[in-house]
Formats: sequence, structure tokens, C-alpha cells
Amino acid sequence: MRTVYVNGEYLPENEAKVSIFDRGFLMADGVYEVTSVLDGKLIDFDGHAVRLQRSLNELDMANPISKEDLLEVHRELVRLNGIEEGMIYLQITRGAPDDRDFAFPDPEKTPCTVVLFTQNKPGLANNPAALKGMKVISIDDIRWGRRDIKTVQLLYPSMGKMMAKKAGADDAWMIEDGFVTEGTSNNAYIVKGNKIITRALSNDILHGITRAAVLRFAKEAQMEVEERNFTIEEAREADEAFITSASTFVMPVVEIDGVSLGDGTPGHVAPRLREIYLDESLKKAI
Ligand code: PMP
Repeated sequence: MRTVYVNGEYLPENEAKVSIFDRGFLMADGVYEVTSVLDGKLIDFDGHAVRLQRSLNELDMANPISKEDLLEVHRELVRLNGIEEGMIYLQITRGAPDDRDFAFPDPEKTPCTVVLFTQNKPGLANNPAALKGMKVISIDDIRWGRRDIKTVQLLYPSMGKMMAKKAGADDAWMIEDGFVTEGTSNNAYIVKGNKIITRALSNDILHGITRAAVLRFAKEAQMEVEERNFTIEEAREADEAFITSASTFVMPVVEIDGVSLGDGTPGHVAPRLREIYLDESLKKAI
């Protein structure tokens, strides 16, 4: 059984409780982060802590926990649960007022709810799926307009994942005004020659922590990076495609809407970026 963290306490998972009036539960009024663990160490903790603070600021939520304490809780959960490879999920909601009301509660009277738990995933780095590559389908992006805030309102991404499953694919890339925004839980890229193309940052997509690191490593490795919109048609004709996220790192995409990219196997760029990302991130893991 896992030991989890709820509002200052470490508890067995079956004893951890949150109120039915919690605004995370009633209104999806909360934000989250997922930090991966490799070799028992946290990958890019700093990046996740900075983005968490940004999400809280954008929603006018006071951060209830300092960065130092947050790091301590992450490390303690890794230790208590013996995690070598996996993830730490963190969620902060606007707390549980006495009753359901659309207006935000007085933060003096209603403290935020802070929950963290571990997800044990042995073999995360050596995921065989990375050798095979994944298949994606395209779907309309009908999410709200502030996708840069990492909120817990994940119903449409969940539906997108189910649409992909039903179509025999692994994930869905979302399309808005003809252009790919991102995957249901990852950033999307195409490769043409030695050039990596990905949508530029805006309110339309989540500012991936893995994206920032991978683009930096790509530039350091003399690869060309172009941050611009691309259509799904351009993607289907690309040499390669891939996704990035904290839990999948870099994952090649070998099929889009039933169309194979190249010979239908991962190309050179995505596997190389995965290797560089894993090596470099591990060096800096804390
Ligand atoms: N876009 C979306 C919609 C996501 O949910 C995620 C992962 N949570 C990402 C991109 C990738 O972000 P990161 O690299 O920080 O995990």
C-alpha cells in the first residue's frame, strides 16, 4: 500500500481523505504537476515547481507550500514508497469551503488542499514502446482557452485518449483552426530533414517542461528548431514525428490517422533526442 501526502500528513492511501466540498472535486478548481523519478531521483523538479507557481498565480491561488518544503515532500514520498522509477503526482486545489458556491472562498478561511502521491513504474526509461513508436489520430481541439494553466480539468483529454483507443491508436493530436495544438497529455513535434518543428508557446498549449529541455538539447546538438504552427497534413508527410512529456520523455510517433511516416518505424531524430534527454536529465536529477 502506498503512503501518500495530504495537507501536511503522510498517510496510508486508504486513510487519506478530501472533503466532498473540495473545489477540485466540484469545479475542477485546481492545478497539478507530474514529476518523473529515475534512479530514485527527481527529474527537472525546478521546472515543475516554477510552472506550478505560474499556474497558481494565473488562478489567483496563494501557494500554500514553499519550494523547499515541496521538494522535501517529493523526496520523502520517493523514500517511503521505495520508488526507483515512476512519477510523483501533485495536486493543489482551492480547498473545501462550507458549501458549494461559484465565487471563490476567502483564502483566509479556506486553505488550499495539497495532495501528493507516487506512481511506481519500473521500466519507465527503457519503455519498449519507444522502440516501436506510437500511433496517433487527429481530433478537434475543443478545450478552453487557457491550456497554458495546468488545471485538473482533464475530461476532454480523457475522451480524446478513448477516441484514440477505439480507433486502435495510442493517442490523439488535437487540431484547432487547421493546426495541431498538442497531444492529449504531451507536446507534439514533426521532423523534416534535420529540422524539428513544434508549435510556439502561447495560451493554446501547455508549456511542457520536457519541451523546454528537449528543445534546448536539440539546439545544443546543432539541430535546427522551428517554433511555428503545422497542419496535420504537413505532419502526415513529415519524415518523423514525436511527442514529449514528463512521463514519456521523448516518444516517436510512427503513424498519423492511419498514414505511416516514412517506413513506419521510429526515425533517427526522436530516438537520439530521447537518449540525450534521458542522459542529460539524469545528470541533473536531484
Ligand atoms: N501538453 C499537455 C496537454 C499535457 O497534459 C502535458 C503533460 N501534462 C504536456 C503537454 C507535457 O508537459 P510536460 O513535459 O511538462 O509533462
